[in-house]
Amino acid sequence: MFINGEWIFRNDLEVFNPYNLEVIGYIPSLSRKEVKEAISIAQEHKDTMKELSPSQRYSILMNIAREIQRRKEELAKIISLDAGKPIRQSIIEVDRSIGVFKLAAFYAKEMRGETIPLEDGIILTKREPVGLIGAITPFNFPLNLVAHKVAPAIATGNVVVLHPSSKAPMVAIELTKIIESILKRKNIPLGVFHLLTGRGDIVGDEIVRNEKVNMVSFTGSVEVGESITRNAGFKKITLELGGNNPTIVLRDADIEMAAKSTVKGKFLNAGQVCISVGKVLVEEEVADRFIERVVEETKKLKVGNPLIRETDVGPLITPESAERVESLIKQGLEEGGKLLYGGKREGNIVYPTVMEVDADNILCEVEVFGPVLPIVRVENIEEAIEISNNTIYGLHAGIFTKDINKAFKIADKLEYGGVVINNSPTFRVDNMPFGGIKKSGLGREGVKYAVEEMTEIKTIIIKNIR
Ligand code: NAP
Repeated sequence: MFINGEWIFRNDLEVFNPYNLEVIGYIPSLSRKEVKEAISIAQEHKDTMKELSPSQRYSILMNIAREIQRRKEELAKIISLDAGKPIRQSIIEVDRSIGVFKLAAFYAKEMRGETIPLEDGIILTKREPVGLIGAITPFNFPLNLVAHKVAPAIATGNVVVLHPSSKAPMVAIELTKIIESILKRKNIPLGVFHLLTGRGDIVGDEIVRNEKVNMVSFTGSVEVGESITRNAGFKKITLELGGNNPTIVLRDADIEMAAKSTVKGKFLNAGQVCISVGKVLVEEEVADRFIERVVEETKKLKVGNPLIRETDVGPLITPESAERVESLIKQGLEEGGKLLYGGKREGNIVYPTVMEVDADNILCEVEVFGPVLPIVRVENIEEAIEISNNTIYGLHAGIFTKDINKAFKIADKLEYGGVVINNSPTFRVDNMPFGGIKKSGLGREGVKYAVEEMTEIKTIIIKNIR
């Protein structure tokens, strides 16, 4: 689609507005052969990127940030149209991506090494780019998760082939136009960056298997992540995958804060967030009060057209996703769950749903990726920890308590990549290490940490200094 500085326009795949299912554009569905060609061209440009000075990389990244800033409203609208994200949340996503490019610009100048003394010399370490990075991204943060791969890749002097999700590719196309214009302005060959649209099982799969690719940086589902571990061969991989993130509410918690934060964290982007609240585990003593406040807060949410500023909850990304979430609600009810609010679907919209369930309910087990909040009553902290750890996932967990000592002890016992105290698990800032354990992922993002993943350490040993 953008290969070696040339745009390819073909109407192979339709791109839909998930709110009304209108076609908003078309993208080429690249063949394996086209992907292979793009990767070969990218490989030939590795030295170009590696030889750019820190100041040049800094300048590219700052210019990208400025251009995103200039086009902020327009890019946010594209995200809302293409991914169905409520416009206020899309604006926040664009703002965050500006920050990510600026942060990466800083790290372009901060790729530091170490020194180790010897009897007769010194050892120096320096960070070098891995070479060619295949970036594969999901639909739910179609700009900021692209930024989290592309920005540190440029900062570290890597060439990039990018495959954005074909469910929401439009904003990645706009970002590519921005990158193209800045590379042109700086006389850098356009073969250092390629945008490869099409089907994930063709384009993504070829990126994963191709031996010329040195690293795959993937964000998406556990299912595809697992296939990448099998197919990538001898290359670096980082995987940012899904979760079912527990939120533990203890009897001494600020219930008002816990309820508001849970509702905000659960229904952000209609629950299509990897660190969305998966389930709440609330101590029996405060359960009634917590549930009452959660339902009251959920009732306040405005559901509908993502382009309307008041909208809090928009559609799910595809009819299949909405039907899947609807059938999970049904199954949750069949397994004894009690519907407290919501539960209905209209087209791609699933209305915010609150349910009380047992810990072995399907809704507590899988990644629902929709606006469904299952709440489980627990007897004590030990039970909450046991339920939290009894899962294949390990992305984020949340704890609400006023006792910081208790919170630290629980945090130590939770098998998760991140533990958030006095907020739902749905918290991320772009400079923190971010990622999961178990089947939620491998490696960390957050610009500084991606810089480490996207570089190799070269050791230089200087001997015989007298
Ligand atoms: P997905 O279906 O796994 O797709 C992710 C990307 O992989 C898309 O670009 C997709 O392309 C591509 N792909 C599909 N099949 C592939 C294959 N065989 N080989 C290589 N690439 C392939 O995920 P999604 O539905 O877009 O996103 C939702 C998932 O992402 C959830 O599980 C969520 O938890 C996870 N996620 C995790 C994080 C995190 O940081 N941990 C952040 C956001 C989302 P096409 O779409 O074009 O087919």
